[in-house]
Amino acid sequence: MSVPGAFEPARGPRPIVVQKYGGTTVVDEAGREALARRVRERLDEGRDVVVVVSAMGRKGSPYATDTLIELVRNEGGAPPRDLDLVLSCGEIIAAVVVVARLFRHGMPAVALTGAQAGLVTDSTHGDARLLSLEPARVRAALARGLVPVVAGFQGVDESGEVTTLGRGGSDTTAAALGAALGAELVEIFTDVDGIKTADPRIVPDARTLPSVTYEEVFQMAHEGARVVHPRAVELAMRAGLPLLVRDARGEVPGTLVSRHPLGPKERPLWAGYRDVATGVTHRAPVALLRVPAGPGEEPRVFRAVADAGISIDLINIQPELKSFTVPEDRAEEAANALRREGFAVEVVPGCAKVSVVGSGIHGRPGVTAAIVEALVAAGVRILASTDSHVTVSCLVPRDDMERAVRALHAAFDLARDRDALQAMPEMEGREE
Ligand code: ADP
Ligand code: MG
Repeated sequence: MSVPGAFEPARGPRPIVVQKYGGTTVVDEAGREALARRVRERLDEGRDVVVVVSAMGRKGSPYATDTLIELVRNEGGAPPRDLDLVLSCGEIIAAVVVVARLFRHGMPAVALTGAQAGLVTDSTHGDARLLSLEPARVRAALARGLVPVVAGFQGVDESGEVTTLGRGGSDTTAAALGAALGAELVEIFTDVDGIKTADPRIVPDARTLPSVTYEEVFQMAHEGARVVHPRAVELAMRAGLPLLVRDARGEVPGTLVSRHPLGPKERPLWAGYRDVATGVTHRAPVALLRVPAGPGEEPRVFRAVADAGISIDLINIQPELKSFTVPEDRAEEAANALRREGFAVEVVPGCAKVSVVGSGIHGRPGVTAAIVEALVAAGVRILASTDSHVTVSCLVPRDDMERAVRALHAAFDLARDRDALQAMPEMEGREE
C-alpha cells in the first residue's frame, strides 16, 4: 500500500499499523524471521507497529490450540471457564516467543495478554464478544519505543475471568486494536496469498482477489471462508479501517479489504460490477432438521431451538413442514428440545452448505438458475436453498461438497483474471 508521506520523518504521533500473524506464520524459524523482517520494514517507514499473534501451529504442534484442548480432554474435560484459561496460554506463549525474536533483531518489544491490552468481553467462555477496549498499555508501550506483541484470541470479562473469542478470534483482536488505536491499516498475515475466490484446498486454481469490499468479505467469512473472521470484518467496516490479507512469507500484495472495490491497480470502481460472483464458500458439517408442524405452530418450533441457544440457518417454512439447519454437533440437542415440545423431528446429518457470494448477485436474474444447473450437471443433490441480496446458498450432501464448490467456481468463471478486463465503456461516473 502506498501511503503519502511514508518516508517523511515522523512528526508527532507516528501512524500505526497492526500486524496479525496466524498460527502457521509463527510456528517455525522461517516464519518468525519473516515476521521480524516485516516489523522492521514498517518501523523503518516511520510507523509504529503493534503485533497480534495466534497460538503457534495447527493440530499436532505442541503449543497449538487443538493440542491444549486435547490435553484437557484426555483428562476428561474441564469447565468452559477453566478451558479458556488454558487456551489463552497458546497465544501468550507465541507472544513471548515473538518478543524474544524481535529483541534478537534489535527491536525492543513487550508481550501483553488480551487482558493487559485492555480487551474486555462478555462472559461467554469459548465464544466471547468484545464489550470494550481501552488499549492504554499498548499506547504506553509504543510511547516507550517498544513493539507491543498482543496475545490474540483472548480477553477478560468484567469479573476478571479470562475468556476466549472463538476460532479466528485473533483476527478480531487485531481489528479491534486497529480501530481503538486509530491505525491506518491492519495486516492479516496467513498461509495463503490473500482472499481467494474459493478455498484453495478445494479449488487449486482459485484466484487471489486484489480487492474486495467489507460486505463481500463479511459475507464470505460468514458463509465459511475462514481466512478472516466475520467479526473482524465487521469491526473494520465500522471503523473504516482497511484490512490487508496477505501471505506472511511471500511477496505478493495480498487482498485489500475496504469500502470500495478498488485494487492496487486502481481499476475503475465499476469494473467489479461486471462480475456476478466474487467467491464460492462452503461450511460443513451441518445437519438438516425437518419438523412436521402445522400452521400456527411455528413460534413453538423456533422458540424451542432458540431457547436451547442454538443458531439456525437455511430456514424454510411450509404449511405442514418446517425445516432448518444447525451445526452438526448441536443437532441432537436441537432435536431433543423439539421432542420435549411434542414435535416429531427428522435429523439429516452429513450435510454441507455451499454459497456463491457477490455484490453483483443483487437483482440479477438467472443466478439461481445458473447455480442449480451447475450443481445438477455435476451430479450434486440439492437438499435446500436460500438467498440474500449478496448470497445464494445450497445445502448438499457433505460427500458432494467439494464437487459442488468446484462446479460453482467453474460455472461463474472465477479462475479468470478479472484485472485483465477493461472498464465497461458504456458506464460513466462513479456510484458512491
Ligand atoms: P490463520 O491461522 O493464519 O488465521 P486460517 O486457517 O484461519 O489461518 O485461514 C487460512 C486458511 O483459510 C487457508 O489456508 C485456506 O485453506 C482457508 N480458506 C478458506 N476459504 C478461503 C478463501 N476464500 N480464500 C483464502 N483462504 C481460504
Ligand atoms: Mg484464522
